[in-house]
Amino acid sequence: MSKVSEQTLILIKPDAIQRGLVGEIITRFERKGLKLVAMKMISLSEAVLREHYAHIADKPFFPGVAKFMQSTPVVAMCWEGLQVVDAVRKITGITKAREAEAGSIRGDLAMSVACNVIHASDTIENAQKEVKRFFKDDEIFGYEKSEYVHVYAEDERAA
Ligand code: ADP
Repeated sequence: MSKVSEQTLILIKPDAIQRGLVGEIITRFERKGLKLVAMKMISLSEAVLREHYAHIADKPFFPGVAKFMQSTPVVAMCWEGLQVVDAVRKITGITKAREAEAGSIRGDLAMSVACNVIHASDTIENAQKEVKRFFKDDEIFGYEKSEYVHVYAEDERAA
């Protein structure tokens, strides 16, 4: 898996925390066959929030998003797998949840643009930065996932 394996950063947002959707969201990633390599609950500091949402900092809706994202702690997770960044964006669905594809996490679980249950890294480059933003090296775990024998074909598992 090593050469082709990627990591991506997921945040379970305050609406999902309040609505008791943490288990459901984690279950969806588990059932897809992804490997959980890091997880913790944290309150977003002003600095981390500004860095994480720098691309929307000038938008009129940013203060509302900032207030929402700090309204409860979030669950930060790092998931690993083959081309996982794109795979997870597909599972996540588009930003405006009420128009997100049925079957996606946002499509099935949310109605809002701002309160759209999870954040998921959008590119490999951003995923690398975001995983580093939320996790120290020793908080990310490497281990053999036995179900990989059944999740991937032999050539997909090869380094
Ligand atoms: P995504 O999370 O789908 O990658 P963006 O990076 O564009 O979307 O935006 C970051 C987050 O900001 C969104 O997930 C959503 O919570 C919020 N957001 C984006 N656009 C709007 C909007 N027009 N109104 C309110 N909140 C928004």
